[in-house]
Amino acid sequence: MKIFKFGGASVKNAESFSSVTNILNNQTAKHDTLVIVISAMGKTTNLLEKLTDAYFEHNIEEVKNLYKQTRDFHYLQSIKLFGVASLKHIEIMDILYKLNERLQQNVSDNYDYEYDQIVSYGELLSSRFLSSFLEINGFSNTLLDSRKIIITDSSYRSASIKWDITKTNIDSKIKAHPGNIYVTQGFIGGTEDKTTTTLGREGSDFSASIFAFCTDAKEVTVWKDVPGILNADPLFFPDAVKIDFLSYHDAIELAYYGAKVIHPKTVKPLQNKGIPLYVKSFIQPSGTGTKISEVSSHTKVPSFIIKKQLILLTISPKDFSFVTEKSLSFIFALIADNSLKINMMQNSALSFSLCLDTNSRIKNIIQALSIDFSVKYNENTELITIWHYNDNTISTLLKNKTVLLEERTRHTVQFLVKG
Ligand code: ASP
Repeated sequence: MKIFKFGGASVKNAESFSSVTNILNNQTAKHDTLVIVISAMGKTTNLLEKLTDAYFEHNIEEVKNLYKQTRDFHYLQSIKLFGVASLKHIEIMDILYKLNERLQQNVSDNYDYEYDQIVSYGELLSSRFLSSFLEINGFSNTLLDSRKIIITDSSYRSASIKWDITKTNIDSKIKAHPGNIYVTQGFIGGTEDKTTTTLGREGSDFSASIFAFCTDAKEVTVWKDVPGILNADPLFFPDAVKIDFLSYHDAIELAYYGAKVIHPKTVKPLQNKGIPLYVKSFIQPSGTGTKISEVSSHTKVPSFIIKKQLILLTISPKDFSFVTEKSLSFIFALIADNSLKINMMQNSALSFSLCLDTNSRIKNIIQALSIDFSVKYNENTELITIWHYNDNTISTLLKNKTVLLEERTRHTVQFLVKG
């Protein structure tokens, strides 16, 4: 049993689907059971997020416009792959029709719920595309609806997995029928009462890991448009190098600091069962990629992670008192209730600073805090993390930057700077 995950870049348009068949021809044996987990095509998830916003804000014109963009894109790719008169094309159009129908429903006041119902269409479409494409290319396969397999609670946009029932579903749908190819959606799941949920942005990696854990797979491969995991984003660091081997521990650290390596929750299920994870290039599938496994020697290559568009809040009690544990627990509860992530924090006698992802909920947080605290904020800040740093790397990176906060441990240094 192998699990392959293909990201949006590998299926960004009709032409790119052949990279999947190319890999199946060269990387799998005929009798392998294979589960293929797929993300939404190209930038579809971003488009559907905008569509959700417009729908939630009752902006009918924008809903029409964004739906049309989604429809036109998928329509065109479907015509190219299947032809206008084919049943496969009709099946794609049917999914788009259902999305349009969904957009005519009344909007509830739960944004996260609406988000999951709409954004999940990206994967429903891409998985149908892939399943049909494989079929016409001689790879007979079964398309599985992950909403009926990966069962979650109803924490929309970051649903938690109900492992027992998910495992039972995977056993009966996949393990009981070895030797087949299964195609399914990454990123999405469903509650026991059949409401669609999502697992968080980039969650398809995590889906792949859930399937691997529940099937005791031999390995997972995430196919990307880079040769493996690099020590920095090549967009900002042209000299970025590939890391050949990474321990589970280090992969979790890199993901935690914001490296676009893999979804942070991906590693734990694999580590628990000792299943290796390969990150490879779909452009050069025969490359060695990066292997994440239980290696004991830790990589010492300095790695650079830059997270942009963060907000720094500095909170101080209005009455010039100390920041007490009681105030901290109020602040943390507020952050947790709004599902925000703290990237960095620092406490002093009279103030508490914390750096958060920019998000539509920040306004509510500032409002709620402003009742008892004075709140200052710096928008558009950047968090630079250097993992296995040395003095040289630090001075190069901080050239012409104003540092707002700094934190050092033995292996890692972080600077929050003005963007
Ligand atoms: N399509 C989702 C996203 O873009 C999930 C994923 O690709 O992993 O975040």
